[in-house]
Amino acid sequence: MKNVERGDYLNKKRGSIRERLLSVVLFPTLILGTLIIVFGVFLIYGFYSESIKNELAGTTNMLLDCLNLTVRGDYQYEDGMLLKGDINITDSTMLYRIKEETDIDTTIFWEDTGILTTVQSKSGVSAVGTKAQPVVVENVIHNGEKYFSRNLKINGETYIGYYAPIENSTHEVVGMIFAGKNKTLVYRSIGIIILCFTVFSVIASILAVIISRGYSTQMVSDIGLINGYLRSISEGDLTVDIDERIVNRPDEIGEIGIYAAKMRSDLQKLIEMDPLTSLYNRRSCNNQLTKLFKKGEIFTVVMCDIDWFKKINDQYGHDAGDYVLVKISEMIRENVADCGFASRWGGEEFLLVYTVGFEEALQKVEALQKKVREYEYHYDEMLIKVTMTFGMKEWEDGIPYENLIKEADHKLYSGKENGRNQIVS
Ligand code: GH3
Ligand code: MG
Ligand code: MG
Repeated sequence: MKNVERGDYLNKKRGSIRERLLSVVLFPTLILGTLIIVFGVFLIYGFYSESIKNELAGTTNMLLDCLNLTVRGDYQYEDGMLLKGDINITDSTMLYRIKEETDIDTTIFWEDTGILTTVQSKSGVSAVGTKAQPVVVENVIHNGEKYFSRNLKINGETYIGYYAPIENSTHEVVGMIFAGKNKTLVYRSIGIIILCFTVFSVIASILAVIISRGYSTQMVSDIGLINGYLRSISEGDLTVDIDERIVNRPDEIGEIGIYAAKMRSDLQKLIEMDPLTSLYNRRSCNNQLTKLFKKGEIFTVVMCDIDWFKKINDQYGHDAGDYVLVKISEMIRENVADCGFASRWGGEEFLLVYTVGFEEALQKVEALQKKVREYEYHYDEMLIKVTMTFGMKEWEDGIPYENLIKEADHKLYSGKENGRNQIVS
């Protein structure tokens, strides 16, 4: 992609993942949270309304059955007494038991007038003697039907109530049974449940948003770190290190980080290393020397060259020559490992940099010279023997490293002229 290489896309205006992720997380959570609350409230309300209606119907029918089945005979109301057959059943004990156990108020009506009841006004006045609403009388007394309402005005309070007709054996309706609950109290308990549910749903939604926000913030910040890392590489800085946190991530972002880090190190090798010998190339050796020189640290440079290498190539073949180069490079790398670095300066010539003083470096060079000379290079059943010549120059305050290299080079050539296989310092 030529236009990418030219950097055409770099100035393109881009949005931020953070905003997009937030909108992707925030809106569905808010919509879902609202829907759960609305449906939840409707469901709770519907469920409680229905169960209260059933509870009141059950209480009314149970009370009616008790009256109808325990004593035989028709109902009569005489001198303030409710009679069934000949027995006086003017007793509100059962009504108070029901009130105690279920919090349901009950009333027994003779025609449209309450004669036994647990209903009291706020000031504690019993509702005995009060009349039922006309709509109740119409439905229950006149039509003989059961009647349910959520809006009954009784004794100055609003009730949810259920009425059933009391009939004699001739099916004549003589009164009513009422079971009801104070609407304010019922709605207060439904309200408390709905409030708890709503608060719980709101907290759950807020938590969901906070958790996803935290997660996406972390993710976006890690993507930002990788972005910065790749930008530094694209701008030519191959010394950058990737954040540990990224490569430890157990997901695709962690993988991208690992690939990015591997790409950087491969790129660095490609740029800095000689492919055959895996030693530094001349360019990166110069860079390192520049840094060393700027720091003002002591070092010793050694220019060295394989003796009669052309002959080795001619006699054993170019591949055998490559093999010798690789082997010697291994020895060099091992030799400088703990006290410097080495580069392939060109062909069969190497520049070694020891970050130590002259005496210490000399010992190292002597060891290397001995090892190269004594090693038996076997290639395709051929035995090759090799020697090297070395030119050494130690650090001098203020002398540019280029000059030190030139001097080391002169020493190398004088070693060559002097018969090779030697160290000139
Ligand atoms: P001297 O002792 O004076 O250094 O003699 P020499 O033969 O080593 O030096 P000269 O410069 O005459 O020859 C160097 C040879 O190194 C010539 C070249 O073909 C060979 N050479 C350079 N690079 C490579 C390489 O990567 N592989 C192989 N096999 N040979 C190489
Ligand atoms: Mg040579
Ligand atoms: Mg040479």
